[in-house]
Amino acid sequence: MNNSVVVIGGGPAGMMAALMAAQKGKSVILLEKNMQVGKKLAITGGGRCNVTNYCDPSDIIVNTMVNGKFLYKAINTFTPYDLIDFLCSHDVETKIEKDNKVFPQSNRSADVISLFENLLKKHNVKIRYNATVKSILTSNGKVLGVQLNNNESIYTQKVILSTGGMSYPHTGSTGDGFKLAKQIGHRIIKLRPSLVSLELNESWVKTLMGISLEDVIVSYEVEGKKRISLRDSILFTHYGCSGPVILKLSAYIARYLQEGTSPMSVDFLPNMTEHVLLEKLLSRNVKGHSKTIRGFLQSLLPKNFVLGLLKTLQINEDILLSQLSKVDRNIIIQSLKGMIFTIKQMRSINEAIITSGGIDIKEVDPSTMESKLLKGLYFAGEILDVDALTGGFNLQIAFSTGFLAGSST
Ligand SMILES: Cc1cc2nc3c(=O)[nH]c(=O)nc-3n(C[C@H](O)[C@H](O)[C@H](O)COP(=O)(O)OP(=O)(O)OC[C@H]3O[C@@H](n4cnc5c(N)ncnc54)[C@H](O)[C@@H]3O)c2cc1C
Repeated sequence: MNNSVVVIGGGPAGMMAALMAAQKGKSVILLEKNMQVGKKLAITGGGRCNVTNYCDPSDIIVNTMVNGKFLYKAINTFTPYDLIDFLCSHDVETKIEKDNKVFPQSNRSADVISLFENLLKKHNVKIRYNATVKSILTSNGKVLGVQLNNNESIYTQKVILSTGGMSYPHTGSTGDGFKLAKQIGHRIIKLRPSLVSLELNESWVKTLMGISLEDVIVSYEVEGKKRISLRDSILFTHYGCSGPVILKLSAYIARYLQEGTSPMSVDFLPNMTEHVLLEKLLSRNVKGHSKTIRGFLQSLLPKNFVLGLLKTLQINEDILLSQLSKVDRNIIIQSLKGMIFTIKQMRSINEAIITSGGIDIKEVDPSTMESKLLKGLYFAGEILDVDALTGGFNLQIAFSTGFLAGSST
């Protein structure tokens, strides 16, 4: 029992933790409630697995929304470069794409999962599937073991809790770990969806449903002071908006949103100043002069977007630029350079890429990932109150904290 480690949850954090503990000579049992490990890992990056970001450890911390400094030891102990080396040394070659996102060369998350399955087997980690932990057994401030749903108890002095967050619950991440940790006295920072689509109050956005714009800037005021501006593509949906720029914005909103009252503004033409846009609308050359507003805007933006916008603004799409009133010109400029939308709410946590909030990091030793409240209990992965932007940062955090927790047992 002294030499044993029980890992709860077979996601990237738990698999890495189990492997590291086993490589130290521990007798490791990995308990996974599903009939397979890495069910969420399988769907990451659209099934391609954006496994990390090709960047320095400090950039991982910069891209972490809160408590980045808590990760300093973990990320520097097992860096993005170490992860890439680890994958390559086990025949999973990687490639770097836009924004330094790293993927397996094969574009298959299944290859990353197989790698872990093989290594865990090789190092005699006993994986028990269909094994749901319902409580952590304790005695005098120390871990005593775990109890499964079928009331079976497994005794051990070291437990690594890596049950993930609570998004995409069908993958097994149903938030059990938060309850388990709370039962033994850990504080849970408010759980919210992050990297998720937004619902907007403006019902007219339905007319833009399915339209994607490659390059916009969205701006949002945090607590009426700090202005967040992000640039990337946006996708309109029947309830509001999504796409890379909105997912990123949601990570800020997850921390600061006062729901129902939060305006965000969108600049649909970030490469053109208001002044230049005005000049073009006032264009006096014959060609420009005879153009309809629809034709002019379609030279800058997708046709469906232009038609939806003009309809909403109640501006005749066939009107010539030369006949456009000053009022309508100003409305068009304001709408394109700073359209205000009101955020109703974030979509449900079921649809979120990650969970913001989690185990209060003040109660966890950053140099080992061990609980400061209960000797022998360690945490790894998304269960911790650390969440990052898109780009491979969240998986790197899972692997790095798993590496440190497993190595520290
Ligand atoms: C659609 C989607 C795409 C994503 N794409 C990316 C990406 O490309 N790059 C990136 O960096 N991040 C991505 N993420 C985020 C990333 O998947 C997570 O941050 C990461 O999986 C967290 O790892 P984890 O090991 O902490 O938790 P999880 O992967 O959630 O694993 C937790 C495991 O614990 C098990 N478990 C839960 N409760 C119990 C219990 N009581 N007993 C036993 N087992 C239990 C679960 O079944 C699960 O297998 C994506 C997330 C989603 C939803």
